[in-house]
Amino acid sequence: MSKTPRISIPKSVREYVYQRNKYQCQSCGKTHTESQLTIDHIIPLARSGTNDISNLQTLCFPCNRQKSDKSDRRFQRRFDL
Ligand SMILES: [Zn+2]
Repeated sequence: MSKTPRISIPKSVREYVYQRNKYQCQSCGKTHTESQLTIDHIIPLARSGTNDISNLQTLCFPCNRQKSDKSDRRFQRRFDL
């Protein structure tokens, strides 16, 4: 079992990613407050992404939901037989 565990991201790391991305959603480009943003894994953990800072980006809630809807469906079609 070498899958990356889904750990909760420490607050200091979240703040670093927010500031690096200038509180901007990396999908729609809108600027949000911290409470409206989520930390997203660019390469999902399910596809061997890591919890490294370079694999994290800020997304607003609607964009994050859209993204996970899409990858969830693909994930299920490919693996959930
Ligand atoms: Zn967005």
